[in-house]
Amino acid sequence: MNRYEKYKRKITRYYNTISRYKVKLKRKFIKLKNLIMEIGISKDEFSLLEPKKQIISYPCHLGIIIIGDFNNNLYPALRKNIMGIFGPFFYHVHDLGKKNSLDYFPGDSFKKGIKRELKEDNKSLETLRLHPTKKFHQLLIEKKKTHDIDIILAITDLPLYSSYDKQIIFLFGETNLKHYCSIVSSFNLKEEFYNRRNNYNLFKRRLIKEAIHEVGHLILGPEHCVNDFCVMKYSSDISDIDKKSSHLCRECYEKLLNKRKIYNL
Ligand SMILES: [Zn+2]
Ligand SMILES: [Zn+2]
Repeated sequence: MNRYEKYKRKITRYYNTISRYKVKLKRKFIKLKNLIMEIGISKDEFSLLEPKKQIISYPCHLGIIIIGDFNNNLYPALRKNIMGIFGPFFYHVHDLGKKNSLDYFPGDSFKKGIKRELKEDNKSLETLRLHPTKKFHQLLIEKKKTHDIDIILAITDLPLYSSYDKQIIFLFGETNLKHYCSIVSSFNLKEEFYNRRNNYNLFKRRLIKEAIHEVGHLILGPEHCVNDFCVMKYSSDISDIDKKSSHLCRECYEKLLNKRKIYNL
């Protein structure tokens, strides 16, 4: 065998080894991609895990975004009620529009991180697909950048589970204090969820309370109030929401006044 033949064989051997590794790597890549789909972590969401703390000065700009198919325009009522309590903290409330969820989560991203839960309906068992709150927070961080908004509140018609504690399912809302964004789910605010007759006014009242509650966290901090009638009281079920009002109690209002003093509002 001459030298040329020897090298040719060597190159073929190397080429075959590389091809084998290529197949192996491809398999590993597919496995990893499936795992990512399952646990709901992507490159974008990793950036959520290492957040730069945003510093906000008041007054600032609040944006409201509606994600889902809502028959009525919820924006005016949300704006009016939020401004009624937190008005001095905002220059303006921006209507960032309404679109269905698939428009916001194109392709596979809608399915990412879904958790399946069984729910008993009137007659049968229904499988519901719950979405992680972090998926929404990531979207909201991007929306804040594109709209040049400081604080953002989103309303979705999809059921949620908490990305921070996966045992917390069908939660009403969650706020990310580092990124100043909140998500409220209307899914289990509807009477139909409890196998009762549709009551739009009751639904709207609940939604407003939860929206105020989450914006309240953004301004007043993560603590909950102990007063049953205060909007900042934690609601573990729907009856808790119905018990509380859409207002701040005396103590929470004092806290709000102190915040206003800090920012000269
Ligand atoms: Zn809360
Ligand atoms: Zn209170």
